[in-house]
Order: sequence, then structure tokens, then C-alpha cells
Amino acid sequence: MVNETVPKVELHCHLIGTLNAKLLREIVLAGDPVLVRPEALRAVGFGEGPRGFADWLDRVEPYKSAGWRDFLPVLERHMERLVEQHVVYAEMMISPMMFPRDLGALVDAFAEFQDWVRERERGRLQVEFLFLVPRSLPDEIIDEDIARCVALARSGGICGISIAGLEQNCPASRFARMFDVLKDHGLGIEVHAGELGGSSEVVEALDIGRADRIGHGISAFQDEGLIYRLCEENVHIEFCPTSNLKMGAAKDMASHPIGLARDLKMNFSINTDDPGAFDCDMNSEFALVAGTFHFGDEDFAAVATNSLAARFQPNLRFGDRLKELAGVEADRKNFVLTE
Ligand SMILES: [Zn+2]
Repeated sequence: MVNETVPKVELHCHLIGTLNAKLLREIVLAGDPVLVRPEALRAVGFGEGPRGFADWLDRVEPYKSAGWRDFLPVLERHMERLVEQHVVYAEMMISPMMFPRDLGALVDAFAEFQDWVRERERGRLQVEFLFLVPRSLPDEIIDEDIARCVALARSGGICGISIAGLEQNCPASRFARMFDVLKDHGLGIEVHAGELGGSSEVVEALDIGRADRIGHGISAFQDEGLIYRLCEENVHIEFCPTSNLKMGAAKDMASHPIGLARDLKMNFSINTDDPGAFDCDMNSEFALVAGTFHFGDEDFAAVATNSLAARFQPNLRFGDRLKELAGVEADRKNFVLTE
């Protein structure tokens, strides 16, 4: 299948969401520690929606407060899977809670974490990280998180942040100050919007959230004016088809807006969101899109180019495939290649 071998770029994947029974079983077999028994996990089914996902999150509860070292066996196996699926560049969302609160200790621990990741990339794949900020974050923690993000922006730790969580009752406007400060420090901003909420949340993410990328954005396609704006402003949308189906953001694949987005030559990526929770991977997502909307080589090449151009990390470290993709991208955005 051609979609299995095309070079891929993933911009929307939660590290905790990679957990599934198979991956945990591999860790156990290798003699590495796990915080949840493999048999305790089962993927969210079709039709289960947010409740099914909440149940899945309950099952991985110990990982929500786990430290970065607890995630290494998980990340190691996930990175191997990405390489098998021809993913050449990936940005992953991680919790700030994985690292120490003290700013100096945070910078040191993150540098150690990054060194570990770099060693395992082996020139095949580049992995970068975004701090995930839940919409429900208490006001008193927002300033603390700003300081942590700024410290890691200065040290070259994270390349951006992502605002995620239920959109109702938690407007992105609560984070207006955070967006301003982080933008000034060169961090990219991704906002999950228009997944289960309405199109107004996508407008808010653009106007107040100063979002460089929109996660999901499904409901934006109910609003013609907004579709026009997304095209005009070349806003990057991170589509996550299986996640959208299982969460109920799209009722079936035929009505998923990714086909229209391709027809309108919009700027978007194809992602897994939570491949463990939703029992999918990059190959399955590409196959789903190819099967439903007949995406061909040219369409996937445009997806790869647009996805790479929308990355938050300006420096591409290595990889012939990355350079190939970057070559296509050259007239779109200036970037730095380092070896
Ligand atoms: Zn997400």
C-alpha cells in the first residue's frame, strides 16, 4: 500500500495516549517497569464517545502523575513504531507534571530527557515536545506554568504548547496572557478547538489564542465564512480521523471534512491523537483517508509538506527524507538544516 511507505509527519499525538495493552505487554516482557497492567487496558470503541475516553483515562490514572523516567519504556517503543510507519518528524504533547516544579531542576531534567530521545532517534526520526496545558488549569497555576514554559523555551526544551480539554466553560481567553508571553518567547501555540464544541471556539482560538495550529477544527466546517478564513490565513488544521469518529466529532468518515479540505487545498496534517486509546496508527489513518477520499501520491506529498512547514521546531536535525520534504518546502518557509 502506497500510503504505508510515504514519509509521514505527525503533529498531534499525546504521549499518554500511546498506551495500550500490546505496548505495555512488550514492556513487561522486556523486564521494564509498567504502572498499569496490560490486561487493565482496552481501547475506546466506536460509539463510546467522551464517556468511553474518560473511562480509558481512568484506567491509565497512574501515568497521569508519572515522572518522565516512567515514560521512557513507553516512548522507546512508540518511537520504534513511528519509524516502522515511515514517520520522519513528530511533535508530541506531554504533561509538565512529568518534570520537577523547581525551574532549575526542570531545565536539567528536561535536558536529560531530550538527550535520551536524541540517542534513540538515530538519524531516522526527529521527535520534539509541546507542553500540554489543560483548559481546566486553575488560575493560580497559570503563572507558574508560564514561567516553566519560558524557562524551557530559553533552554531549547519545548518548542510549543497545546491547550486541550473540554471546551465548554473553559474559554481559551483565560490563557490570553500566557499566549502573549509564550509568543514573545518564540513558542508555537496549538489549540484543540472545534472538536466537540462549536465553530465559535475555533474563532476564539485564532483571535484570542493566537493559535498557529488548530487541533481537530471539525465544527469550523459548518461555517462557510470560517472555512474561507482558514483558507485565506492558511491556518494549519491537525485532523485526527479515528479520534473524531470515536469521540463523536464526526458521525462517519464520509462526512469528515478532510475530503473538503483537500479539495480546497487547505493546510492540514493527518494524526492519531491517542493511538493507544483509539487503537489506530499513522498507517491506519492514512489508509482511512485514502480509502474514503481517494488520496493519491500528490495529496499525501502536499500533506507531508504542509505538516512539516507547520512544525514548531525550526531546526531540522537530520534525515534524507526530511531534507527531501524540506526541499519541497523551501519556497514556503525559511528553515535551518543542521547535521
Ligand atoms: Zn488531542
